[in-house]
Amino acid sequence: MQRRSFLALSGSFAACGCSGAVHRLPDISNGNLALAQSEVRSASGPQRRAVSDDDVQAILRAVSRRIVGPALHTCHEMNVGVCDWKFRISSSRTMNASAWPHGYIVVNRGIVEYADNEEQVCLVIAHEIGHQAANHVATSQRNRMVGALVGGVLLGALSAAVTAANNGGAVPNRSAVELGARVGGTVGELSFSKEQEREADYLAALILYRSGVDLDRARGLLVAMAHASGRTETSFLDSHPAGPERVAGWDSAVAEIRASNGKLPARAF
Ligand SMILES: [Zn+2]
Repeated sequence: MQRRSFLALSGSFAACGCSGAVHRLPDISNGNLALAQSEVRSASGPQRRAVSDDDVQAILRAVSRRIVGPALHTCHEMNVGVCDWKFRISSSRTMNASAWPHGYIVVNRGIVEYADNEEQVCLVIAHEIGHQAANHVATSQRNRMVGALVGGVLLGALSAAVTAANNGGAVPNRSAVELGARVGGTVGELSFSKEQEREADYLAALILYRSGVDLDRARGLLVAMAHASGRTETSFLDSHPAGPERVAGWDSAVAEIRASNGKLPARAF
């Protein structure tokens, strides 16, 4: 009941016609951009490694243990989006994750295969949580329609699921964490605006900061993705902005978050 009324409130918020970012985001400095450009040039792209199903489950459990509590706190503090998240693990080996209507977050096993460390997986999941917490899924009419069409197909195809640690930060037990099967890698994230993508990265950085996750270790994923952005083998690149601009945006966000000791930025409206 409580959740229903909360969602209804989100709906009326969406009716104001606001779209884009909820918060005011820092400008990207030329210095940050130049640094990112040179770094991306000399980086190597994401490397896939073999990971067992047990490893995928263990890593995602560890990630949820680290970030879901602070993420929930952040979501409630923002009080504009969906804080009741339902995580699904897809067996797709593409490097992608996505946010869907009704709080669904789908994480492809490819994310774990490509990540260099646990902090990078934290970044990806916190990014999708950011889309939910800022109500990006609901604030665009077009996204809602696409979500209704594509989300229905995708969620119907999932055979097993992981339930998030949504109840006071409780950790999902082993039996609740199972790999979903047979989800094609063709369905990417709903198309969010550039501002919404930047905001999701900002919120991811904030959630990681508040969770005590090393932001610099997490950042490596963005650098590797930016390096690979000219190639097409990772579908994460199709549905997310890549390139040095994203790395520079991350650096601007992290600088502001460290300076404010983890405060939410001012609202955009
Ligand atoms: Zn995104």
